[in-house]
Amino acid sequence: MADCLFCSIAAGTIPADVVLETDDVLAFNDINPAAPTHVLVIPKRHVDSAAGLGPDDAGLLAAMFSAAARVGEKCPGGWRLVTNVGPDAGQSVIHLHFHILGGRALGWPPG
Ligand code: 5GP
Ligand code: ZN
Repeated sequence: MADCLFCSIAAGTIPADVVLETDDVLAFNDINPAAPTHVLVIPKRHVDSAAGLGPDDAGLLAAMFSAAARVGEKCPGGWRLVTNVGPDAGQSVIHLHFHILGGRALGWPPG
């Protein structure tokens, strides 16, 4: 999608610190990390958010969770997967992404 930051990262036209790539999914370090491990897992094709997913996206979701699990292996103490949907949740980039956070004790509930 034109003018989408994460589509541009997926296309390689904007650089990112990529930690994992598959046919359908890219994982890269967050530019403003909130934890020692803070990786974003995105689908290469544009989806606005988790609200845009449906039954036809089962394979894509499996690929995203599988990538998240590989990233989480860096955090033996545990890790958290978060996806923000919409303004109240603080979604600032309108392209589906999982935050993978770990490497320190994480508070609950989030703010
Ligand atoms: P959201 O607020 O939408 O849930 O998360 C967006 C995330 O994208 C934020 O954690 C923010 O730091 C990250 N981010 C924004 N712009 C860039 C960028 O250009 N490169 C990378 N690697 N991360 C970004
Ligand atoms: Zn996009």
